[in-house]
Amino acid sequence: MNKNIQAIRGMNDILPEEARFWTFLDSAVAGLFAGYGYGNMRLPVVEATALFSRSIGEVTDIVEKEMYTFPDRNGDSLTLRPEATAGIVRAAIEHSLLYEGPKKVWTSGPMFRYERPQKGRYRQFHQIDVEALGFAGPDVDAEQIVMLARLWKQLGIADVELHINSIGDTEARARHRVDLVKYFEAHLDQLDEDARRRLHSNPLRTLDSKNPRLQDLVEAAPKLADYLDDAAREHFTSLQGLLDAAGMGFVVDPRLVRGFDYYNRTVFEWITTRLGSQGTIAGGGRYDGLIGQLGGRAAPACGFAMGVERIVLLMKEYQFVAPARPADAYIVYAGDGTAAPALRLAESLRDAGLVVLMHAGGGTFKTQMKKADASGARFAIIIGPEELAAGEISLKPLRAADAQVRVAPTRVAGIIQQSA
Ligand code: ATP
Ligand code: MG
Repeated sequence: MNKNIQAIRGMNDILPEEARFWTFLDSAVAGLFAGYGYGNMRLPVVEATALFSRSIGEVTDIVEKEMYTFPDRNGDSLTLRPEATAGIVRAAIEHSLLYEGPKKVWTSGPMFRYERPQKGRYRQFHQIDVEALGFAGPDVDAEQIVMLARLWKQLGIADVELHINSIGDTEARARHRVDLVKYFEAHLDQLDEDARRRLHSNPLRTLDSKNPRLQDLVEAAPKLADYLDDAAREHFTSLQGLLDAAGMGFVVDPRLVRGFDYYNRTVFEWITTRLGSQGTIAGGGRYDGLIGQLGGRAAPACGFAMGVERIVLLMKEYQFVAPARPADAYIVYAGDGTAAPALRLAESLRDAGLVVLMHAGGGTFKTQMKKADASGARFAIIIGPEELAAGEISLKPLRAADAQVRVAPTRVAGIIQQSA
């Protein structure tokens, strides 16, 4: 017997029931971001592999073991994008987006990482990604954070905690790194395999380790905060002042370092305790060096990405109900010659701005009326042989006790609109 083909592990179908949350989220962010001056852009899901290894960093979880990398038919190494920032920066450079000055942009779509699938962690997942290119901050850092706080409110999400930190600039990180390596060397026996392998290539990553056995060791490790130079410290202090002024609660988390190499100064994450260990619903920060590093004219930047699946899980956790507009009318029809007038009427009502469901698939009036009722529509419009002969339709209110009436088709839109 043939075994049916199934979806790839860790890659989900989003069915209609579930997709309602996604649609609501999509329109909420589009409106919200536009209100802060962010323009939408859309990018390929496949990029040259080098784009990610150069930006995210060779010695990171993503580049070392999570990328979907494959040779193109002509032998080029391609990768399914694991995140969106690198692609945005690539496109900004390629199209000289910053030529006229700084740009605020956002994008969204599927990302791919070969991870162990579990609740809130998948191999194809979706991000909404926001980037302010050419802005030095900290005003724009603060604005991105308050914009997210506004989104959580619109989505009915409460109790997400904002964690912020500053990881300083290159020179501070170099000094910190020397001490960090010394510290880890002194505790070699306590390191896990990943930490040992990265001891000299990327010790900072170990501070981001999810291994519970390492937590005490990481807790006591030298903190980047103690190495910041004056400019970075000033940036961080100003950010905190702006957040205070906006009434934003936050936690300064000296252990927050994030999993990419390109970050500097501000990093932040929004964390919930309601989704188990997949509790980070959004994360981001500053990457002042990346545009220059990828070949563009050097310009500072700040951005973040949020995980759509985790946000939808959280919306459900908070019993979020997307405001839905019920259909205005459900058209029921049976009998010879009724299909064409039914279709014409449906289209003319839609021209008038009404939401109209048209019965499909035939059946008796009784079964069709049951469907009309179950659809939640406010009216049923009935077209049968009698109505057809009289050049009228029957209009039956489904959510009010009013009587059914027979009217000319041209009057239907007006009656339904008046009853709203
Ligand atoms: P985590 O620490 O949970 O692995 P991350 O630091 O790797 O997250 P980022 O690369 O910063 O995550 O991505 C931003 C957001 O995208 C995360 O906060 C999370 O909400 C979401 N995300 C990341 N990886 C996944 C995944 N495999 N499945 C679902 N959502 C994800
Ligand atoms: Mg990760």
